[in-house]
Amino acid sequence: MRYAFISDIHSNIEALDAALSYIAPEDTVVCLGDIIGYGPNPNECIARVRERSQYVVIGNHDLAVLNGFGVERFNDAARAAVSWTREVLDPTHLAWIDTLAYELRLPEMLFVHGAPVDYFEYILDVREAATAFAATDAPIVFIGHTHIPELWTLDAEGAYGHTHVQHGGTHRLDIAAGNRYIVDVGSVGQPRDLNPEGSIAIYDDLRKEVEWVRFEYDIGKTQAKIRAAGLPGYLAMRLGSGR
Ligand code: ZN
Repeated sequence: MRYAFISDIHSNIEALDAALSYIAPEDTVVCLGDIIGYGPNPNECIARVRERSQYVVIGNHDLAVLNGFGVERFNDAARAAVSWTREVLDPTHLAWIDTLAYELRLPEMLFVHGAPVDYFEYILDVREAATAFAATDAPIVFIGHTHIPELWTLDAEGAYGHTHVQHGGTHRLDIAAGNRYIVDVGSVGQPRDLNPEGSIAIYDDLRKEVEWVRFEYDIGKTQAKIRAAGLPGYLAMRLGSGR
C-alpha cells in the first residue's frame, strides 16, 4: 500500500491542489496537521483534507485557532493569521478540528505533528531526534512541523544518521534490519528549506521506500490572495524565498 503524507498546508489551496495531483486515487492520504494558519484559504483547505484524507492528526496552528493554544509564543504575523482565520472559519470546520487526535499509530508507523509524546516539539538536531526515538517503539515516525523535509535514522548498532532531502528523492527504510526512522515530510504550503517548492512524502510499505516529491505551484496567486485578505505581507514574501 502507498501512504501519501501531506503536512503544514497552512491554508494554501494552490499548493494543496498541486500536491494532490501527485497522489494516486488509491493512495491512503495521511495529513500530519497545520492545515490552517498563515494563508488565505482555510475553509477550502480543510474541506479538501476532510474529503481526501484517511488519517489526520492535529497541528499546533490548528489548535491555536481552536482554543488559542500557544499564541503567546507566536510571532506577530502568525498571531494575526490565527485571529483572521478564526473570523473566517466555518464553525463546522472548527468543530471538526476539535475531534482530531494528537497521534495515530499503525503497527510499523506513528503519525504525529512534531514529535512523539511532546507533540509540538521540533526535531531539528540529532539530540532531539534521539529523544524522539526513545519516546516510542514505532519503527517509523512520520512528522511535519519544521517545514524542512529530512530523514533521521537510528541503526541497529545505535548510531544516528541524518539526510537532507531539499530537492526530493527516494530512500529505502530497512526496518527488517532493526533500523528506525523519523521521516519529516516537509511542508505543502510554506516550505522553509530555501526551496520554495512544496513538499510531500509517499511511503510504499511493500517496497519499504519513501519518496519525497518537491512540486511547483502558483506562488504568485497565493501571495496575491494573502495581500488581498489583509494578512501580513511578510507571509506572502516568505513563500517566494522558501523560508
Ligand atoms: Zn506548520
